[in-house]
Amino acid sequence: MAQRASRSTAKPAVRSTFEGGCLCGAVRYRVNGPALDSGSCHCRSCRKASSAPELPYAQFATIDFEFTRGWPAQYHSSPEVTRSFCRHCGSPLTYRHAGHPDRLDIMTCSLDDPDVLPPAYHVWTSHKPRWATIGDGLPLFETTRTKR
Ligand SMILES: [Zn+2]
Ligand SMILES: [Zn+2]
Repeated sequence: MAQRASRSTAKPAVRSTFEGGCLCGAVRYRVNGPALDSGSCHCRSCRKASSAPELPYAQFATIDFEFTRGWPAQYHSSPEVTRSFCRHCGSPLTYRHAGHPDRLDIMTCSLDDPDVLPPAYHVWTSHKPRWATIGDGLPLFETTRTKR
């Protein structure tokens, strides 16, 4: 990857280029733009899609996102929702909702450096397994972020 040290406008605190991909490397993506949101979802669909107790995500403008290698398989986990994942290794990669085609969520842990986009809150905690504990002190929402 080419370094972009010459970009005078780049500031570490507002880093706006993000790269990631699946476990096997068949699918890679890049986002050139700021994250608009960052959270972690505990809903049943995300739990099943990730086979994990929660699925952290970061939202971007769809126009800022591109696949740079390969092409993922897609699955409609509900009529409006399209989730993508690597057809070879199964890593969940993106989430899109038909009601918001201008936005796209990437699965934070598919980033090469997930530390750059920590979640800011937890949603759908009412769906989480009882044995899964949340100890990071972030705001908790039983369902969506509009209800507590
Ligand atoms: Zn893969
Ligand atoms: Zn979810």
